[in-house]
Amino acid sequence: MGLQETEKTIMHKITFLGTSAGVPTRTRNVSAIALQLENRKEWMLFDCGEGTQHQIMKTSLSAYNLSRVFITHLHGDHVYGLCGLLASKGMQRSESSLEIYGPAGIRELLGSVMRLSQLNLPFDLKIFEISEGTLLRYEGFRIDVVKLSHSITTYGFVVTFDDKPGHFDIAKAKRLGIPEGPIYAKLKRGETVTLADGRSIDGNTLVGKPTQGKRIVIGGDNDNPLLFSPYAPFDLMIHEATYTQNDFDNLPRKFMHTTAKQLAEAAQQMGVKRLILNHISPRYDKDGRIVELLNEAKSCFDGPVEAAYDFMQIEC
Ligand SMILES: [Zn+2]
Ligand SMILES: [Zn+2]
Repeated sequence: MGLQETEKTIMHKITFLGTSAGVPTRTRNVSAIALQLENRKEWMLFDCGEGTQHQIMKTSLSAYNLSRVFITHLHGDHVYGLCGLLASKGMQRSESSLEIYGPAGIRELLGSVMRLSQLNLPFDLKIFEISEGTLLRYEGFRIDVVKLSHSITTYGFVVTFDDKPGHFDIAKAKRLGIPEGPIYAKLKRGETVTLADGRSIDGNTLVGKPTQGKRIVIGGDNDNPLLFSPYAPFDLMIHEATYTQNDFDNLPRKFMHTTAKQLAEAAQQMGVKRLILNHISPRYDKDGRIVELLNEAKSCFDGPVEAAYDFMQIEC
């Protein structure tokens, strides 16, 4: 059996720490999503509504190992938890640096609070203000920043994991009598090498097909999910679906949010494989009304749809 068959696929873990829109409910806190890459202790946070640090404490995650925070927009239900979280991370004597990415104003917001409350952190805090088209590259993945449509400057994040190179079939290389050593590295890269006995070996014949890196969307508040379409298709889309279409149509005052129907139709159009409804209006917490959101989305989308709930964990 080749090594290819025994190799397991990499699975990153997503934990929903807050799934309510605007205000917390008894079962849902305000927005926050954790992403932990497989085999890494450090993890990342997308949005940080008030009380996120309490939610973190109910999971196996630790603020101590938090390395990056991405803030979609400066509405309170997405950012009011950040100062408390920073202060607690500081109290834990965490010394590894923390990077915070957010819209213009995030530096002023955090700077003012830190100055006025005399919050001195023991770790290096780096704050980056993002804009449309910002491309962030990290080891193993990249993040494209997408400008969304909401009542305040808001961004969404498209996370694309690097393609995984095909597996090098060592057993086959040995069978062919190729001597171990630096030659293997060249063959792994798909280069053609000439052996001492004159044989020419094409590395591609020993390397399996690369696995395409997965691509996921983590949306912020937004009334137009098709804004993500330049980056489609997606393996996973996590996006707000604050209301059903009917409830939205009957709102006395309209807010710039997406309905389950609108999201599902956009997801269908963009080739989304798996859809997760998030940022759910508190009204659906009562009387099993969450089913209304789910059914509406399911009627417009062929793939699997779930409604996020606090502490829900998925692998991607
Ligand atoms: Zn919100
Ligand atoms: Zn908002």
